[in-house]
Amino acid sequence: MSDAAWVRAILALGSNLGERAGTLSAAVVQLADHPGVRLRAESPVVRTKPVGGPAGQPDFLNMVIAVDTTLAPYELLAHCQAVEAAHHRVREVRWGPRTLDVDIITYGDAASDDPALTLPHPRAAQRAFVLYPWSLMDPDATLAGVRVTALAAAADDLPGISLDGTGEPGA
Ligand code: ADP
Ligand code: MG
Repeated sequence: MSDAAWVRAILALGSNLGERAGTLSAAVVQLADHPGVRLRAESPVVRTKPVGGPAGQPDFLNMVIAVDTTLAPYELLAHCQAVEAAHHRVREVRWGPRTLDVDIITYGDAASDDPALTLPHPRAAQRAFVLYPWSLMDPDATLAGVRVTALAAAADDLPGISLDGTGEPGA
């Protein structure tokens, strides 16, 4: 068997229904439980006011992870969607409550505008709930050549984000 090429990918996880923290930690284990996926880093969990969607929905818990993978991009997407499905995610209301959302933020240096898999993720550069935990995990990370710390500082939703457990928005 030839040596497989391992590609670094950044995945963003979010949950705002049910046992959110337990869902996230179980999802990380499930995402890594694949011969073609190796977990390389995990961010802290942050608490996030929902962006868009119906009023009154619970806060999200969000985190990002870095994996190395031999899966092709669409295989990695299918794996992420299988983990979502394992948490009985129901797609009813766009931007509404969900048990688990797993998005691919970057896949190596891949760029694609396919609606089924847009890379880098088209909204990541504006979303502090992705950028802030990512910057805590890897202060040197860049997205499309810009430092993630700088993108996070400029994101509109940064004041709605806190480290989970501090209770102080923007902490
Ligand atoms: P969202 O994550 O935008 O709140 P969904 O999780 O329901 O909404 O995703 C909707 C669709 O987005 C998925 O069916 C998937 O094919 C597509 N998609 C496009 N780019 C990506 C990406 N980078 N990561 C995950 N899904 C993506
Ligand atoms: Mg998604």
